[in-house]
Amino acid sequence: MAKQKDPLHKEVLKEKMYRQNFQREARRKQIKSARKNIKRDYQPKQARHKNWLDQADSNWDELDYEPSERVMPRDEGERRRNLERTAFNGSQRSAGEAVTGDSPIPGQTGLVIEVSKGLCQVDLGDRVLACRIRGALKAEESGFTNAVAVGDEVVVQETGPQSGVIETVLPRRSILARPDVFYHHLQQVIVANADQLLIVSSWREPAIWLELIDRYLIAAERNRLPATICVNKIDLAEDRAACEATLQPYRELGYSVILTSAVSGEGVAQLRAALQDRLTVLAGLSGVGKSSLLAAVQPGLQLRTGDVSEHSGEGRHTTTLATLIRLEAGSAVVDTPGIREFGLSGLQRRDLAHYFPDIMALAPGCRFADCAHLNEPGCAVRQAETSGAVAASRYHSYKQIYSSLPA
Ligand code: GDP
Ligand code: ZN
Repeated sequence: MAKQKDPLHKEVLKEKMYRQNFQREARRKQIKSARKNIKRDYQPKQARHKNWLDQADSNWDELDYEPSERVMPRDEGERRRNLERTAFNGSQRSAGEAVTGDSPIPGQTGLVIEVSKGLCQVDLGDRVLACRIRGALKAEESGFTNAVAVGDEVVVQETGPQSGVIETVLPRRSILARPDVFYHHLQQVIVANADQLLIVSSWREPAIWLELIDRYLIAAERNRLPATICVNKIDLAEDRAACEATLQPYRELGYSVILTSAVSGEGVAQLRAALQDRLTVLAGLSGVGKSSLLAAVQPGLQLRTGDVSEHSGEGRHTTTLATLIRLEAGSAVVDTPGIREFGLSGLQRRDLAHYFPDIMALAPGCRFADCAHLNEPGCAVRQAETSGAVAASRYHSYKQIYSSLPA
C-alpha cells in the first residue's frame, strides 16, 4: 500500500512503462523489416511434389501448393501476361462482349459460382446458366485436373434457356489449388481470382484455436493472399482485455483483426467494409458463425445450406468443391469445404520460421545460424519467449507445427 503511494515508485513505474513502450515500438520495427527481408530473400527450396505425396493422407492435406513451384498449364503464362490488359479493359467491357488478350470472343461473360462434375453454374448477372465445358478447353489445361473453377470469369454460348457451354476462361488474377484428391501429381484449382482470405474463428463455442489461425496465415502467405482475421461470437467474451491481449500479436504483425458478433451486430459494418469489392475466401471451422456473419453483413441473403453432393456415373462420391456467394457492392465470398482444413504439405521444417516474421526477427541473435529455436543453447527466440518479448502462443504454434512437419 505504502509502496504504491511513494512518488519515487510512481516514477519508476512510469519509466518502466516508457521503456516497455519503447521496446514494443522497436520490436514492431524489427518485425516489419524482417517481413520485408523474408519477402525479398525467401525462395522455397523444396522439390516439386515430393511432400504432397508423402503427406497425402495427413489431416492438413488441403489446399497445399507452393505457388512458385506449381505446374502451370501451357497457356497460363500467356493468361497472366494478358492479365493487366484485361484488368484495365474489364471495367469497360460491355455485356455480351468478352476479351481474351486482344481478340474479342463472341458470347456472354459470366462468373462461375459453382462447379460439380462437368457442370458449372455461371452467373450472367441477371440469370444463372448450367454450363458444360468445351471439350478442347479441358484438354488444354494440362497442369490441372479441372479447367474451370469457382471464381473464374468465363465466356459462354447459350444453348438453351438455362444452359450453355463455356468457351473460354478469362485470365486469372490468382489461383488457390491443392493436390488432386485422386491424382496426387496434379493440381486441382479450388478458387480462381481470390483477392483475400478471411480467417473466421469464434472466441468461444468453439474456443479460439490459435494454432489453426497460424496455419491459415501460413497457407495464405504461401498462396500469396492477404489475410484478415475475424474473431466472432465476441458477445460471449467475458474478459475483453484478455481477448485483446490474445489478438495483439496479430495486430503487431500487421494483420487486420475484426471482432464481430452476429448476435449483437458488433463489428459487422467493419466486416462488410473489409469484404467490399473483393472476392474473399472464407476459412474457418464449421460452427464458428460464418453463415450467421454473412447473413448479418447482408440481411435477406439466401444461403444454400449444406454441402451439395452427388453420385457420379461411376459411383464415385463427389462433393461440390466451392460455392461462390455474391454480395452487394461488388463483393463475393467463397465458402469451401476444401479450405476448412488448410494443409501445409510441401513445407519443410527448416522453412517454417520464414512464415513466422516475429520469430525470424529474433533469429539473428541465436548462437547457431541453423537454430531451429527448440532446445538449442543460446536461442534468442526461446529467451524472448521467457521474457515475454515474443508471444508465447505464437511460439507454441511454431513448435506444434514444426513437430507436425516431416523432418
Ligand atoms: P458456420 O458453420 O461457420 O456457418 O456457423 P453458423 O453461422 O451456422 O453458426 C453456428 C452457431 O453459432 C449457430 O447456432 C449460431 O446461432 C451461433 N452464432 C453465430 N454467430 C454467433 C455470434 O456472434 N454470437 C453467438 N453467441 N452465437 C453465434
Ligand atoms: Zn533460435
